[in-house]
Amino acid sequence: MVSKHAVLRTAVPAELREWADNRLISAHTRIVKSMVLGGMLNAALIVVSLFGEYSSIHLALFFFSMLAASLHRLWLAEGIARGRRQRRPEKMLVAYQLNSLWLGLTFAGTMAFWLPDLSPGSQILLAICGVTQIASAAYTVRTLPRSATIYVSTQALGLTVGLATLGSWSALAAIAVLLAASGLLIRMAFVARDLFITRIMGDRELAASARTVRLLLNEYEESGSNWLFELDRQGQLTGVSARFAEAFGASSKSLEGRQFETLFEQGHHREALSTAMAQGRALRDDVLPLAGPNNCWWSVSGRPCYHSVEDKIGFRGVISDVTSQYLAESRVHHMAHYDALTGLPNRALFNQSLGDLLDESADDTNLALLLLDVDHFKSVNDMFGHPTGDAFLRAISERISATVEDSGLGGTHRLVSRLGGDEFAIIVSGDSACDHGVRLAERLIQVMLEPMVIEGHELANGVSIGIALAPYHAELKQQLVSNADMALYAAKNAGRGTWEMFEPGMDAALHERHALTRDLRHAVARGELRMFLQPLVDVASEAMTGYEALLRWEHPTQGMVMPDTFIPLAEETGLIVPIGEWVIRTALSEAASWDSAQTIAINLSPVQLDSPNLLPVIINALAISGIDPARVEFEITESVLLHNSETNIAVLNRLHDLGVKIALDDFGTGYASLNYLLTFPFDKIKIDRSFISGLSSREDSRAIVGAVISLANQLGMCTLAEGVEDAAQLASLREHGCQMVQGWLFGKAEPSQHYHPVVPGATKTAVVAPLRRARKSASTQTYSRRAQG
Ligand code: C2E
Ligand code: CA
Ligand code: CA
Repeated sequence: MVSKHAVLRTAVPAELREWADNRLISAHTRIVKSMVLGGMLNAALIVVSLFGEYSSIHLALFFFSMLAASLHRLWLAEGIARGRRQRRPEKMLVAYQLNSLWLGLTFAGTMAFWLPDLSPGSQILLAICGVTQIASAAYTVRTLPRSATIYVSTQALGLTVGLATLGSWSALAAIAVLLAASGLLIRMAFVARDLFITRIMGDRELAASARTVRLLLNEYEESGSNWLFELDRQGQLTGVSARFAEAFGASSKSLEGRQFETLFEQGHHREALSTAMAQGRALRDDVLPLAGPNNCWWSVSGRPCYHSVEDKIGFRGVISDVTSQYLAESRVHHMAHYDALTGLPNRALFNQSLGDLLDESADDTNLALLLLDVDHFKSVNDMFGHPTGDAFLRAISERISATVEDSGLGGTHRLVSRLGGDEFAIIVSGDSACDHGVRLAERLIQVMLEPMVIEGHELANGVSIGIALAPYHAELKQQLVSNADMALYAAKNAGRGTWEMFEPGMDAALHERHALTRDLRHAVARGELRMFLQPLVDVASEAMTGYEALLRWEHPTQGMVMPDTFIPLAEETGLIVPIGEWVIRTALSEAASWDSAQTIAINLSPVQLDSPNLLPVIINALAISGIDPARVEFEITESVLLHNSETNIAVLNRLHDLGVKIALDDFGTGYASLNYLLTFPFDKIKIDRSFISGLSSREDSRAIVGAVISLANQLGMCTLAEGVEDAAQLASLREHGCQMVQGWLFGKAEPSQHYHPVVPGATKTAVVAPLRRARKSASTQTYSRRAQG
């Protein structure tokens, strides 16, 4: 018993002892009145019952001693209640102990001395009153166990003495019971005191932590941009702070009792919140749009509070305004997933959506992927500048979207995205995706041909479309995209402005293209390039006044490859620069070897004009060949004037300065305009074959050819018609005043020996050196390859 007390007493830290004692004292003080009243009633009962049977003086003495002790106790208690004595608890404890002794002795004396002289009935009454007094003392003084011990033990002692004087066995038994019960009561008092201390210590800690929490929360509420909120069992706001109300833009009063979810805009965010709360789940940074027109976003965190596992009593949490953060994040998200120029989904979102659709589709979904490329878009950029190009792309994207919208695809899913540059993708998924895809492609090709006016320019570029189907052509995303890409490539190859569905053979075609590009890298070194010549004919005299150098590639396994196949590859890979150099050197040395003063025309690709090596190579080739520059003509296309036009025109001027001539090739294709004739003093205009073939049948072709020839004549430029195949065309051109022609009517592109047969034994001084070098390098290569083989 003692050790337990020791443990509990020491559980109170020294600095709290006084505080704990004060709490014990005041706990007793609170029931002093009941204790005193009970004691006095007991005393009064005894006095009244024994009145006449026992000496009145003793009765009066007993009663007044009880009254005085009770009043003393009340006085002590009153002093404590008024806070007069709280500072000296140990003195108060002693005062209560002394008062308890006083009360105890008063009763003890009564029991000890009166009992033997009373009638048996009064004895019983007195004994019962004594026991009652002992029990009530133990109960009412239980927080002051020493006082209780004194009070109980003195009374028990008095009663024991009184009973002992009776001398009966039953009295002795009563003594035994009394002592045991008293001992128990005293122990109970100590236990009660310890329990009380444990409780008040717990309360104290709880209060302290509650204070700390409140303090922190207040600070949090006042300083941060966050607000606490509390909901009752029904999910209604309660204890709405002024700051919270202000943030929401309403009064605390009007928010009090409002259903929490209704603060937020209706929609999936709000539904998710309601569900989570209904299921008693915690919320962690759930971001929701606030109801109302302000486009505010709040982040809500919190958790339900419970009394017990089943008994949810409400919800507490914290809200922060994340509007700017949310808007910034959604802007970033938008930027990462949507194309800034057209507002369409970008490649990333396209990839993601396509992946999702293919995942979902498993076995049964059909999906058509359309890859769409704007034909000749680059020339729009080159000719009108990037702002117009951008506006054109925007208009195109709008037209594509509108066409997809109006295409009557019904419930099928579709997504239009811009993959970059002038490339767009359309996903059509759902039943009959294949049919829908094809119909859509046809429709798109039609509508894209209708001209649109962009910044004052009338543009109509048309589109090429490649289609691949899932799961028919491919089940995996990468494969499907690559298949559609091959189909698109095929559509472009088929002359653009058309669509192609992927076919397994395209795969092979693409591989072939890759292989061809690989082989082309070695074509010059391996001596596989051949220079063919096509005569240029003077209309008046019908004499061959010169030749155009037209390149061929004698591929080791594929035979003669035409320039339309490999020149685009060479341009894409930059190989056109070394190839072009080879053509320039070869053509000039070849022409220098001719007996006559016939001219040589050499095609220059725009890529070559960008090369800083071009002028040195030409100067070098002119010098080595010793040819008269006036016999040399370079053919460029209109695109040279669109792209980098100032630098290119500077290069053309340098060439002019060298004394060579410049011809404008393929005039009338692309963005041809008569204005081009004014941008540079061309020596010759080559009218494209497409106009010549239409001469006999198309009025517009005749008109264009007539206009070009007359303008060129006025500007002092020579005109040459390409692709003249029959006499009628020649006659018509002659009529229009065209000075030169080129075409199968006079001769196809043939190896140079065809037009310039090598005369055995003739020396060709001018060509020997460069030709030998070229042949030597080619044969060295052949030799080393053989050696390796
Ligand atoms: P181009 O400069 O317009 O060359 C004329 C093309 O028309 C040649 O095709 C020629 O064979 C063809 N042709 C000539 N007369 C007729 C005719 O009466 N009827 C028909 N149907 N066609 C005719 P080729 O040789 O296949 O050359 C195609 C293109 O390849 C050339 O078009 C030129 O742009 C390019 N090219 C050829 N050689 C070179 C070169 O050395 N360097 C560069 N950069 N490009 C070249
Ligand atoms: Ca040409
Ligand atoms: Ca041409």
